[in-house]
Amino acid sequence: MSPLRLICVACGNICDPREHDTCPHCGPDEGILDVEFDLRQAGGLPGKLAARPHNIWRYAELLPVDTPPQSLADIGWTPLIEAPRLAAELGVARVRLKDDGRNASGSFKDRASAVGVARALQQGFREIACASTGNAATSLARCAASAGLSATIFVASSVPQGKLAQLLVYGARVFCVEGTYADAYRLCTEACQRFRWYNRNCAVNPYLVEGKKTAGLEIAEQCASDPPGWVVLSVGDGCSIAGVAKGLREMHTLGLLERLPRMLGVQARDVAPLAAAADSGTLDRGGRGSTYADSINVPIPRNWRKAVAGVRHSRGAWVTVGDDQIRQAAFDCGRLSGVFAEPAAAAAVAGAAAARRDGVLGADDDVLIVITGNGLKDIAGALSALPEPHRVPPDIAAVERIVTGANP
Ligand SMILES: *Cc1c(COP(=O)(O)O)cnc(C)c1O
Ligand SMILES: [Zn+2]
Repeated sequence: MSPLRLICVACGNICDPREHDTCPHCGPDEGILDVEFDLRQAGGLPGKLAARPHNIWRYAELLPVDTPPQSLADIGWTPLIEAPRLAAELGVARVRLKDDGRNASGSFKDRASAVGVARALQQGFREIACASTGNAATSLARCAASAGLSATIFVASSVPQGKLAQLLVYGARVFCVEGTYADAYRLCTEACQRFRWYNRNCAVNPYLVEGKKTAGLEIAEQCASDPPGWVVLSVGDGCSIAGVAKGLREMHTLGLLERLPRMLGVQARDVAPLAAAADSGTLDRGGRGSTYADSINVPIPRNWRKAVAGVRHSRGAWVTVGDDQIRQAAFDCGRLSGVFAEPAAAAAVAGAAAARRDGVLGADDDVLIVITGNGLKDIAGALSALPEPHRVPPDIAAVERIVTGANP
């Protein structure tokens, strides 16, 4: 860990890490803090990377953790997959998928939860909590189980069954809140204050975005010689895209990335407060819509300034996609690249398709799409996008009729 400062993203105030989670002037909704490392002190990092293990802790100087727990050595360094047939379908020159569904609990969120658990251990907490649309919770439950911490989880009652099974098998105490994600979020905040639990919620806990940043650090390292023109991510709260953009910027500053890719933020058409805030400069907190892509079903995002600034700084763009487009993209991604994406992850693929149709992406563009979650987490969501199997009697003639396309 290099020396760090905490800066309010709304007013620029520098806050004391021992006293504040959010800026005392701007309050818990707007006064989100950003961790800033002194990159001069991390200047030796590039020369050290070759000898380090392939997980998120290889970037120790850029993470807010003193001693990475050995039990969490399996997080990060997910593969890049060339997807030429998906590129042809999308109408762009090249597509690489970063398959973060291969993380330990099957999503990108493991990166943040690992840092959360490491910091909780570092500060002597025995219990850690979060509110989540699903993956933050499952990743927290998993990292806590690996490291021997107790986890308490608040989820909305609409959580997909696969994610609920993960929470329970990892031994978390689970509260299914009869209400929205916003209700679950508020309840978690109150519980953390009352019972003195470590709060893993990304927006108010500035250190967790540093965990998400590791995906950007990895992309830079994995693509150093031929960086993509665009990096595409689906967006709910906004922490993921903000983190990836930050990781890319830090690697650029350290000289490990030749040029900065542009960020494409993708939201569901009916739940797109961040795409709207990027246009208007303010966040509408009255959002109501919904999407079947549960992980980005976030009408009131918690980290809008970081996300909007990260995309703007990269000279990036925002697009929105309908649920029908996400369903189509989930199928295309699986059959044309061999990567099974959960709905929110497929939304990024749908976003690339939409951006190509809108002319934001051109035929020559080289695109990296982050697949943020594994499709096995939400089987009902997946099946809603897919054709029916052929139902046949155990009879080769019936199979032949289908294979040859002959009518019965
Ligand atoms: C959380 C999540 C996102 C969006 O990340 P935010 O930080 O909420 O913007 C996208 N896809 C999946 C699978 C997720 O779990
Ligand atoms: Zn402030």
